[in-house]
Amino acid sequence: MAKIPRLMPQNPRLFRAEVVRTERISPSMQRVTVTGADLAEFSWMGYDHWFRLFMQLPHQATLRLPEFTGDRWWQPYLAMPEDERPHCANYTVAGHRPGTAEMDIDFVVHRGPTGELEGRAAIWACAARPGDGLAVLDQGLMFDRPQDASEVLVVADESGLPATTGIARSLPRDTVGRLIQEVPSEGDRRELDAPAAMTVTWVVRDGAHAVPGQAALGELRRHTTVDTAAYAFIVGESGLSTKGRRHLHRAGLPKDRITFSGFWKHEARRPA
Ligand SMILES: Cc1cc2nc3c(=O)[nH]c(=O)nc-3n(C[C@H](O)[C@H](O)[C@H](O)COP(=O)(O)OP(=O)(O)OC[C@H]3O[C@@H](n4cnc5c(N)ncnc54)[C@H](O)[C@@H]3O)c2cc1C
Repeated sequence: MAKIPRLMPQNPRLFRAEVVRTERISPSMQRVTVTGADLAEFSWMGYDHWFRLFMQLPHQATLRLPEFTGDRWWQPYLAMPEDERPHCANYTVAGHRPGTAEMDIDFVVHRGPTGELEGRAAIWACAARPGDGLAVLDQGLMFDRPQDASEVLVVADESGLPATTGIARSLPRDTVGRLIQEVPSEGDRRELDAPAAMTVTWVVRDGAHAVPGQAALGELRRHTTVDTAAYAFIVGESGLSTKGRRHLHRAGLPKDRITFSGFWKHEARRPA
């Protein structure tokens, strides 16, 4: 599963916020813009800066949160009665504007076998209204490129698109490498502000029933020559991250030069 992030803040800070507006920015991506009194102080580090998102439950008038003391929140969270406990999921900072204390969060809109919207966070994002409560627990970066990395290889499915967008934008402009990004449809492609010497390969998935991440994995497996001093970052569906890591390791890349994380796990299901 997920590799432990090395650049996690010692005392992760919690930010209370509320929804300002939402927008379907592409066929599979819902952007929720949030604001909060102290969100201007959020120290956005760029790259794949991620956080734990706590969402108000549909029947609640206000958001209820567990006690946060330093990095201890999991036990108090689990101790909350289930019908009061906010839903929690991991997300990436898609944008941050300190001037207006606003943060953008991009949610993949995914559907079950009969086409119904699924995923508690995606359902929340698609129904979110101005004023809905949430909280953001800062978790820092997973991207951890060694200083001496000769090149950078970034691979993701659509759940990693906010991360790859941030990484492309944040990398030093003289970075050499390759970025492989899978998306569900042509309309989900977006402009990436990648360094000029990074090759960007978009892989558009073939059909709604294809397992996400497999097309990016296929493209990665065609990438057989890897410099042993390179650095790789692979995120998305768990099969993409674990098999992608294995491929790169077999191709000669040391394990400590690969950051990989299963952002979610595909469950094989039959249509009803
Ligand atoms: C560090 C990190 C950063 C992340 N950043 C983002 C981000 O910026 N945007 C984003 O959309 N996701 C992101 N994810 C992935 C996100 O946390 C998962 O998709 C998570 O499962 C969503 O929570 P949920 O409660 O809605 O899902 P659940 O309610 O737990 O899932 C319900 C069902 O949906 C399926 N499912 C979950 N995610 C997907 C998906 N993407 N596509 C298809 N089926 C899915 C599950 O397999 C399950 O069957 C990130 C994950 C990590 C670890």
